[in-house]
Amino acid sequence: MSNYHIKGLEEYFQVYRKSVQQPEQFWAEIAEENFVWRKRWDQVLQWDFHKPEIQWFQGAQLNITENCLDRHLYALGDTTAIIFEPNDPSEPAQHITYKELHSRVCKMSNVLKDQGIQRGDRVCVYLPMIPDLAVTMLACARIGAVHSVVFAGFSSTALQTRINDASCKMVITSDGSYRGTKSIDLKGILDEALKETPSIESVLVVKRTGTEVKMKENRDHWLEPLLEKASDHCPIEMMEAEDPLFILYTSGSTGKPKGMLHTTAGYMVYSAYTFKNVFQYQQPDVYWCSADIGWITGHSYIVYGPLLNGATSLMFEGVPQYPHWGRFWEVIDKHKVNQFYTAPTSIRALAKENLSHVEKYDLSSLKILGTVGEPINEEAWHWYNDNIGKKNCPIVDSWFQTENGGIMISPIPFATPTIPTFATLPLPGIQPALMNKDGEELKGNQVSGFLCMKFPWPGIARSIYGDHDRFKETYFTAFPGTYFTGDGALRDATGYYRITGRVDDVIIVSGHNLGTAPIEDAINEHPAVAESAIVGYPHDIKGNSLYGYVILKETGEDRNHDNLRNEINQLISERIGAIAKMEKIQFTSGLPKTRSGKIMRRILRKIASGEMDELGDISTLLNPEVVQEIIDTRL
Ligand code: AMP
Repeated sequence: MSNYHIKGLEEYFQVYRKSVQQPEQFWAEIAEENFVWRKRWDQVLQWDFHKPEIQWFQGAQLNITENCLDRHLYALGDTTAIIFEPNDPSEPAQHITYKELHSRVCKMSNVLKDQGIQRGDRVCVYLPMIPDLAVTMLACARIGAVHSVVFAGFSSTALQTRINDASCKMVITSDGSYRGTKSIDLKGILDEALKETPSIESVLVVKRTGTEVKMKENRDHWLEPLLEKASDHCPIEMMEAEDPLFILYTSGSTGKPKGMLHTTAGYMVYSAYTFKNVFQYQQPDVYWCSADIGWITGHSYIVYGPLLNGATSLMFEGVPQYPHWGRFWEVIDKHKVNQFYTAPTSIRALAKENLSHVEKYDLSSLKILGTVGEPINEEAWHWYNDNIGKKNCPIVDSWFQTENGGIMISPIPFATPTIPTFATLPLPGIQPALMNKDGEELKGNQVSGFLCMKFPWPGIARSIYGDHDRFKETYFTAFPGTYFTGDGALRDATGYYRITGRVDDVIIVSGHNLGTAPIEDAINEHPAVAESAIVGYPHDIKGNSLYGYVILKETGEDRNHDNLRNEINQLISERIGAIAKMEKIQFTSGLPKTRSGKIMRRILRKIASGEMDELGDISTLLNPEVVQEIIDTRL
């Protein structure tokens, strides 16, 4: 029996059992039957979660782009690999076949090589959602360079930090990017970032908006003329299974972003396997994931997972509300999308609009709907199910993290019965455990605790780039011998999982993972600010919003609070990006602290959420009197 494509619930249980009882054999069969290897592995798995050390398919040689592109050329050469739907609907969509994509990737690979990029070099990709973004990632992978995609909504400071952390040698960007009615000066933001990035030797610029940009001599080059001259033949670089494939940053509870390091063979097997099963993809389906490629969802479920399966993957440059709130549904109708994968925050925003935006379009092509990035509330789930799926499409509420490489807990459509707000069951190979605060595993059902993983899966990140100690400290120390996710979860009477949210200082706003520390650092840079603390509170559309408590320095001066709020948010935009701006900023004379000086965020969170009668015992605080002041001046 091939374990690769699960088609029913019984089969799922059978496959799952095998994946736990004989994990190495399970993954070896999947790897062997579904991918091209230039050399077979010597050992399927070697692992130790205490060190931590994880190696999959050690000894194997391969190239992921041979698996994404070359091997499809014979059977699927003229099949569309990527449909590009531009921001502006009057601009024609592009259909890029596997043959064309292969040729574009080879040309780009040759350009990178000509520019001095070698195996192991880190290449930063700061591009909007245009095909060049996927082409560049694949070109890096083809020549063995490590791509580090930085979301094009990040500010120059955030970009600079990421370039320096990975000592990138090159950046690929565009003159500008479109977002609805706005055009963003990406090259200008990059220029600002490159003021202090000693490792950068060259910059390649894609022409997208036609905006005038400054080109620095000997450093900056337009990409198009280089591509024109490049050969469309480029042999693959032979990669070892555990060679790095990419770095992708995620927020942590301390200031510095964590560069999650993913390696070649395991990531390939895992992203492909999960894509096939969670979306039940079959050619000629048209599959659309509306995430940005700057996040892990885009890496695994716009680029690698679909292409590894010879799928047709739609890439959308725009935003849900431009030029009208029916844009998503228009795209589904136009391209006859069969699987649609989006974030709960988008669903909530779309659900607020008049249903006539949905009703105008024919959504009958849809077979499967998906959500990812944050918990989906019951109301949004039903709206999605009733109005988009017409009660006919299973909804896959898929849970995973940047660190995981691919989906971990999710229904398998037409196999797993779905229940709103439940991510349901672990995919084959995934062994979750719920732990209590004493580090004991909570066995049985109807329990809730800290969500951990007891056994490695091929897609798990291998390290934090340049900081293996932090990798250990963050994920493998709280519950020794397991991987700790940072999320809380409950397991119901039938064994289904519901993810209840972060249990650390990370707040998910509109599906974006934001660490409190870097935002507080940005606030504290304001000359008028003495100290600050931010917390999340429930928001109708964004899931959570940021609420900031700020103590101003004593200067004797009277400052306009609204101006200060704007200035502080401006600083956050500059340091991190507009996604991290605060919804509310309350000025206060103090923050509730423990006797050891730790800010009691739990109390601040309750006040921001309006749950004043649930504050608990505050008498042990260092400064209990400040709590009343904060309640009285709450916004
Ligand atoms: P990121 O690494 O940015 O993809 O964020 C991962 C975090 O997003 C997880 O730790 C969860 O807190 C949250 N998350 C992702 N998918 C889901 C989901 N389906 N349900 C609940 N939370 C989710």
